[in-house]
Amino acid sequence: MNEQYPDNISSPTSVISMCYSSETFSDDQIPSTLVAEELQLALNKEATETELNKAIVRCKELVLNSEQCSVERKWLVRHLIELRLRLQECKEALLDPQHPRNKSSGVSRRVVKGHHLNLQPLLRTSTTKYCDHCTGIIWNVVQAWYECEDCGYCCHHKCISSIIRECAHVVASEKGCYELNICPEEGLSRQRYLCAECKTSLSISNVGEARRCDYNGLYYCSACHWSSLAVIPARVVHNWDFTPYPVCQASLQQLKFSSRIGLGT
Ligand SMILES: [Zn+2]
Ligand SMILES: [Zn+2]
Ligand SMILES: [Zn+2]
Repeated sequence: MNEQYPDNISSPTSVISMCYSSETFSDDQIPSTLVAEELQLALNKEATETELNKAIVRCKELVLNSEQCSVERKWLVRHLIELRLRLQECKEALLDPQHPRNKSSGVSRRVVKGHHLNLQPLLRTSTTKYCDHCTGIIWNVVQAWYECEDCGYCCHHKCISSIIRECAHVVASEKGCYELNICPEEGLSRQRYLCAECKTSLSISNVGEARRCDYNGLYYCSACHWSSLAVIPARVVHNWDFTPYPVCQASLQQLKFSSRIGLGT
């Protein structure tokens, strides 16, 4: 199965190059020429909001004083992005007692819509992941995020309370087997021109934006259907057709989950 990216992002590399040329977001060693600044730059991941605000000001000054294209500037720009994300996390944690940053009350495992969501460790080097709820990038170097141990659904901590999609394991246990009709489409009007998952309007003027899922025949918005490709069991059974077709993210997760547990065969 071939996974796509949400539409607000052309590709992970374009985002990375936008931020810091072709380099990845990593916890690089501070350049030796900046070691004297170490304390003022809040390298310590536990830094408070005040420390982070001060570090951002100092980091900006150092960026302006650094030579263009130098190792120092590259490192500082990357660090500035990281500091801003950490500040945002810090502010979110102050408003939310369950935020994992709050050591005493933070929650590392949540069950939402049947997903068993486990808090993931922050990484040293980022891997590109997208939030299944808001479709934004998960900056897994600094942002708290969760992954469902059953279906692989990933989301930001801040998105956890707004999850709409039922976990694939719940859907599989309710349905019991694969959909074996080829793309059982009923039409967009039957859906009252609403996305089958998040109920966003797919207005008549906007019909071109609606994406059909080849597995269940329903229409989705681009946030719920990333044009990922999957082999459709009904097409294999009836036509021996192994071509991958575009499916919504919910179907992609259901098909992956069902093939993992050997359902419907
Ligand atoms: Zn799940
Ligand atoms: Zn999100
Ligand atoms: Zn939607």
